[in-house]
Amino acid sequence: MDYATGKGWHNARIVPYGQIEISPAAMVLHYGQAIFEGMKAFRTADNRIVVYRPLDHLNRFNHSADILSIPQMDVNVLHDGLKKLIEIDKEWVPKSLGTSLYIRPFVISTDPFVGVKVADQYTVFIILSPVGAYYASGFKPVAIKVEEHFVRAVKGGLGEAKTPANYAASLKAAEVAKKEGYTQVLWLDALEQKYIEEVGTMNIFFKIDNEIITPALNGSILNGITRRSVLAVAKDWGMKVSERRISIEEVYEAHEQGRLQEVFGSGTAAVISPVGELSWKGRKITINNNEIGETSQKLFDYITDIQQGRVADKFGWTGEMAKL
Ligand code: PMP
Repeated sequence: MDYATGKGWHNARIVPYGQIEISPAAMVLHYGQAIFEGMKAFRTADNRIVVYRPLDHLNRFNHSADILSIPQMDVNVLHDGLKKLIEIDKEWVPKSLGTSLYIRPFVISTDPFVGVKVADQYTVFIILSPVGAYYASGFKPVAIKVEEHFVRAVKGGLGEAKTPANYAASLKAAEVAKKEGYTQVLWLDALEQKYIEEVGTMNIFFKIDNEIITPALNGSILNGITRRSVLAVAKDWGMKVSERRISIEEVYEAHEQGRLQEVFGSGTAAVISPVGELSWKGRKITINNNEIGETSQKLFDYITDIQQGRVADKFGWTGEMAKL
């Protein structure tokens, strides 16, 4: 679907996957006015195809659009388009456990124009691709480096948008961390490098004294859909849950005092990713003996059971897209 100033969104169409033609002067290539989403479709045991929290993802897409000065889209039109695409591609929704059909909506600015300004022309795409299980080699804890040199997003910046610029800003730190043997970095706030923000592609949770704590949304971290699910499920289980500022010192102190029980990330790709080791300023700590914590395992099992239709979806999170 395309957009032009004065005309609005128009020309919604479904075409076979292939190359696209774009001007070398297309504004997105130079000024980065772009946003995207990532969501998944699953085949349920009773042969339905469901997408996990599709409207939440599409509403976040519009929120990202707003932050990047991209025109708002009609969520119902996007949802209908997605449904049609899934109907066409439904045989591609993988059957085996943990696999899914990945859905990537994105918008780019297309005007051929050299000069920084808000663009007048855009195209929104939705591409789909089967993906294998995230934990192909088993569900196990990861080691994470607490970043102390680079920063990802500043207050008042783009951090809350799902925009390529945030990922570009994270590459150098991730490259260094990988060379040092870590899977991802844990970002601290850009101003003081003190308060915890999020992981490369996940939000982060700490279980301290049986309380589930995650950094409060502050404009510079992504409002994760899985994060929302974790908060809702933990609350529903009667656990104490808080969204607040939490410093890296507090986490290390809780560990020293034997009160840090679990650390885990949340995101569409992994659902839940237990963290077995943190390293901050060269100080490594091992969490829960580098084993999967009880809450991490329970959350992973329950949320994936909802996604794949093995338990009743009492939160109404799965949107049916097609029947087989
Ligand atoms: N933070 C960042 C920077 C991410 O890229 C992601 C993945 N989309 C998340 C958090 C988790 O968000 P969600 O649960 O919506 O996938």
